[in-house]
Amino acid sequence: MEVFDYKGICLKRDKRAIYLDPSSGRPDGAVSHGHSDHLRPKTHMTKPTKDVMIARTGSKDATTHNFNEKFKINDFELEFVSAGHVVGSAMINCEGVLYTGDYNPYGTVTAGVAKPQDCDTLIVESTYGKPNQILPDRNEVLSDLQAWIMATSAKEGAIIGAYSLGKAQEVIATANLGGVTPVVSDVVASVSDIYKKNGVRLEYNTYTELTEKEQQTAELLVTSTTAANGKKKDEAVQNMRRRGAKTARVSGWCAFSDWALRSVDAGFPVSDHSDFSGTMKFVEECNPKQVYTVHGSTKELAKEIRKQLGINAQPLPKYGQASIEKYN
Ligand SMILES: [Zn+2]
Ligand SMILES: [Zn+2]
Repeated sequence: MEVFDYKGICLKRDKRAIYLDPSSGRPDGAVSHGHSDHLRPKTHMTKPTKDVMIARTGSKDATTHNFNEKFKINDFELEFVSAGHVVGSAMINCEGVLYTGDYNPYGTVTAGVAKPQDCDTLIVESTYGKPNQILPDRNEVLSDLQAWIMATSAKEGAIIGAYSLGKAQEVIATANLGGVTPVVSDVVASVSDIYKKNGVRLEYNTYTELTEKEQQTAELLVTSTTAANGKKKDEAVQNMRRRGAKTARVSGWCAFSDWALRSVDAGFPVSDHSDFSGTMKFVEECNPKQVYTVHGSTKELAKEIRKQLGINAQPLPKYGQASIEKYN
């Protein structure tokens, strides 16, 4: 089997090929999860990912499969296994090749965990692929976040900005653990409803469905990052700001970048991606012969995998480039 970057991640054997997270919708493609840089219609996906696609794009065109259930595309045998990133997110197993998609080996409150799988070839994402990109302990940050929510929402009120698919649900679950039921934006509600449909317990109220009096007394608002930082005009945010509400951002980038802390009162570095040390451990436990890195700091991560683990590693080659791996 050959593996290279062509219209997505292309797996090719003889004259047949399949495409993982393809650049456009196609029936011989399989997608890992519902974030827009990965999601394409007319492909194979998990059922919750299809729900996300319907909510976000309106398209219903997909072939769905359960987790841990083998299926075939073009005579390739595939399987979706949990990626622990967002609802429905999958790593894709295909005959000795494992593609992580976006993955989180530390686990989430609301979307499971990515477990290492034995494989010959590992295609791993490199969002936090630089050796200094190590996140603080996830559970500790979540308990800090919970404490901030409980203290702030009871006083001046709290606004939290987070990605509406994945991070917002971790925030809602954390608030619920502290006994707080947040008010959420329409977009956050539509995605959170999919989590509930898939058995995740989340309690929240949608801002636009509240009475005016309830809107005036909301204690915690969970909304998109752009609405929370005032870049997008948003009635709910303005309402709470007028009452002196404090604003926080929940994003892995809060640990690494000044821009992530600009125009907010607090930042909590919770990520739905692996960090550098999580990835090194994950790669070691998958015990592959060859690693290809994709998305983000691909060169840096490949270099460290070669150096620290002694495993062949390089950024995923483009079609036609030398050093395409062959086996079988
Ligand atoms: Zn993602
Ligand atoms: Zn991504």
